[in-house]
Amino acid sequence: MPIYEYVCGTCGELFSRLRKMSEADAPASCPKCGSNETKRQISACAIGGGGGTSGGFGGGG
Ligand SMILES: [Zn+2]
Repeated sequence: MPIYEYVCGTCGELFSRLRKMSEADAPASCPKCGSNETKRQISACAIGGGGGTSGGFGGGG
């Protein structure tokens, strides 16, 4: 499944979610404030099969 990026319209939090292509258009709940006012961002490398990831998504606290 590809990774989609979403931006929260309430607090402006930018987060990524691993979802199906069919569910990509569906709004994702913000992990920060829990708002559903999120929009999907256009990611550059959203499509692709496997491979290495540079940078990576670090887990915060
Ligand atoms: Zn939010």
